Amino acid sequence: MNPPTGVPSASRDRSRPVFHPWSAQGAARQVRVDGAAGCWFWDRDGNRWLDLHSQLGNLHLGHQHPVLVEAVGAQAARLCTLAPSYGYEVRDEAARLILDTMPDAMRSVLFTNGGADANEHALRMARLVTGRPKVLAAHRSYHGATDGAMAVTGDPRRWSAEPPGSRTVRFFGPYLYRSEFHATTAEEECERALRHLRRLIGYEGPETVAAIILEPVVGSNGVLVPPPGYLPGVRELCDEFGILLIADEVMTGFGRCGAWFAGDLHDVVPDLLTFAKGVNSGYVPMGGVAVGERVAAYFEDRPYPGGLTYSGHPLACASAVASIGVLRDDKLVERAELLGRTVLGPSLARLAQRVPVVGEVRGVGLAWAIELVSDRDSREPLAPYAAPGPLAPPMAQLLAACRERGVWPLVAANRVHLLPPLIITETELERGIEAVADALTAVFGGHRR
Ligand code: PLP
Repeated sequence: MNPPTGVPSASRDRSRPVFHPWSAQGAARQVRVDGAAGCWFWDRDGNRWLDLHSQLGNLHLGHQHPVLVEAVGAQAARLCTLAPSYGYEVRDEAARLILDTMPDAMRSVLFTNGGADANEHALRMARLVTGRPKVLAAHRSYHGATDGAMAVTGDPRRWSAEPPGSRTVRFFGPYLYRSEFHATTAEEECERALRHLRRLIGYEGPETVAAIILEPVVGSNGVLVPPPGYLPGVRELCDEFGILLIADEVMTGFGRCGAWFAGDLHDVVPDLLTFAKGVNSGYVPMGGVAVGERVAAYFEDRPYPGGLTYSGHPLACASAVASIGVLRDDKLVERAELLGRTVLGPSLARLAQRVPVVGEVRGVGLAWAIELVSDRDSREPLAPYAAPGPLAPPMAQLLAACRERGVWPLVAANRVHLLPPLIITETELERGIEAVADALTAVFGGHRR
């Protein structure tokens, strides 16, 4: 084909056609994947890796699950696409099944294309329903990479991406290992974190706060599991001041934490619940906002100002229906709880004993993090909590050592995250943990067994 007029052929460089997210383009280095099945993926040179982070935490059912592949194929043969303004059975069925996994108070689902836009819509709904401008969001949180979602994100990814005038006020959530409140027990951390939040609401003016958005278990910022009373306490504060609670369950939903939703672990019902990832393992992009009673009532006779061309996409809905069926039939939510309690948790506790750079291991279900320190007493992080870019050298070394041993966890800042697919076998899981332990001792020292 001839180049368009005016474009000399020598300037048509197609050697790097993809613009890479979160990367300097000149520095982006990728492993080129050739195929994947179950918990494994491989390249053309015969290297195989056990995926210990479910890609980006989305691959609950692993790669190429036959039930999902069949469901997407069958739906593609029936009807590939349909605007959201039309009624369609598979869309209703997906929404109904999703709601069935949630607390009874959730009434309906606004489908989106992923997690960030789900949060965008939840925030818009909260501001419209309350007529209030501000949102309280946690430090050490991630809510997505679009402007509104970045505006409530509380980690270094927002430093150069946060839009101006975001109307967000940030608070510290509980994180006992690095307590902002000088707490030494979970009870103290809980009580003091709630007191801090109450004071913040007071100083901001409760009548100016539309919503509190939080991850019921913080995901990509370190798998921070809240102490028992914290989420119920936040719910009470919301009720007291007429603030809506938005639970971002994009990472934690659909069984990741050993319950359908992490909020279920604390019997907390949010006003808006956002989801994506595990709803269909990401086979077709999908996210959504589940709308609780107060929000549903508000929009009963007022038009909602928002929508998306692909909202409730038939292929995505078909894959969600199939995925929820598999999660239920194979009891994978219960399995995640069991594997976390009996295999992953205890193995990581043993690993912490033998590798001195491990400061803390923590998690629930099949979401765990290993936090590395240069000194156990001072808890000095082994690598900084830094802006997007290359890993600190020791962490890059650790990641390379993991990959050499055939496992692929997520390595971020001073942490290793383990969020394996929910279909992982016990043998695969044990093998994976052993490989990570081996990589840690090879790079940082410690006892291998
Ligand atoms: N919220 C949480 C808690 C997430 O972990 C993520 C992604 O990792 C998002 C929102 C954004 O989702 P997406 O990348 O689908 O926009």
